[in-house]
Amino acid sequence: MNQKFSWKWSDQSVHQDCAYSNSYDAQDILTHELGHWVGLDDEYTSDFANNTMYGYGSQQEVKKDTLTTGDITAATAIYH
Ligand SMILES: [Zn+2]
Repeated sequence: MNQKFSWKWSDQSVHQDCAYSNSYDAQDILTHELGHWVGLDDEYTSDFANNTMYGYGSQQEVKKDTLTTGDITAATAIYH
């Protein structure tokens, strides 16, 4: 998954809250979705705009490829 391509999240029944549209970096989005898989929720306030779990994605975005301190803190809290 190291290649950018047009990609659309196809299963809206699984994840209908995130504002994705046409073309995204797959790693960016998949990292975010893996966050849900471990139990994290979306964040929608601008304070969390740089977090992987920020609920809004944008085209060509890659900042979610890695976890922020806030993401790690939240994930650790779940499994502590
Ligand atoms: Zn999400």
